[in-house]
Amino acid sequence: MHLSPSQFFHTHIAPLFKRERCLCYHCGESMRVEGALTVNFQHVLRPVCCHGCLAVLNTIQQNGLTEEYLRSKEQVESSLI
Ligand SMILES: [Zn+2]
Repeated sequence: MHLSPSQFFHTHIAPLFKRERCLCYHCGESMRVEGALTVNFQHVLRPVCCHGCLAVLNTIQQNGLTEEYLRSKEQVESSLI
C-alpha cells in the first residue's frame, strides 16, 4: 500500500510528537519536540537532537554496526538503573 506524504506524516511521524518534549535517541538529551530532527534507524523514525547525533546513527547503519550499537546502548541503560 502506498501512503501519500501527508498520510505518512500522520501515521508515522505525528505520534512521535504528541509530547512537548522528547529524548534524543542517540544521546538521551531532552529537547523540545518542535526542534527535534528525525532519523530512519532500523526502519523506524527516531527523534534526535542535532545533526551530530543524526550523523552518528547514519554512520552506524552505513558501517553495519547497528547490532553493536544497540548492545552497547542496552549496557549503558542497564548500568544506570
Ligand atoms: Zn543527541
